[in-house]
Amino acid sequence: MPGETDAATQLPAIDGWWSLDDSGAPHLIAGKCTQCSTYVFPPRANNCPNPACDGDDLAQVPLSRRGTVWSYTENRYPPPAPYPAQETFEPFAIAAVELADEGLIVLGKVADGTLAADLKVGMEMELTTMPLYTDDDGFVRSVYAWRIA
Ligand SMILES: [Zn+2]
Repeated sequence: MPGETDAATQLPAIDGWWSLDDSGAPHLIAGKCTQCSTYVFPPRANNCPNPACDGDDLAQVPLSRRGTVWSYTENRYPPPAPYPAQETFEPFAIAAVELADEGLIVLGKVADGTLAADLKVGMEMELTTMPLYTDDDGFVRSVYAWRIA
């Protein structure tokens, strides 16, 4: 149905940043160094981020869907591209979420309806997606976001 959000036709706004598992749940994709196992998000294929490692081969691996709030803030100004300019700008929260298993902190927008006053350091968050736009082929292009778990 036109205009309807269908998980099966949902794609990342930026290819390769997240994917859906068999149950339709989204997870982020990171680069993981094949030498030292350091993770990096957004994912990349080369150039290990660990300054003590000269690894140049990063595997693309799924990240944990849940983490805890490490820090957060509220954005009161419109975001830059790839977010399309909106008629009316609504403030939104941004959370830095720590993934314990990977030792990685992932910054992301917090799902609409949750502002900084609703968040606390240590709170459990899970990954979700938010539709951004529909592309020329009719696929819903979505960005990842954090929501309170
Ligand atoms: Zn490395």
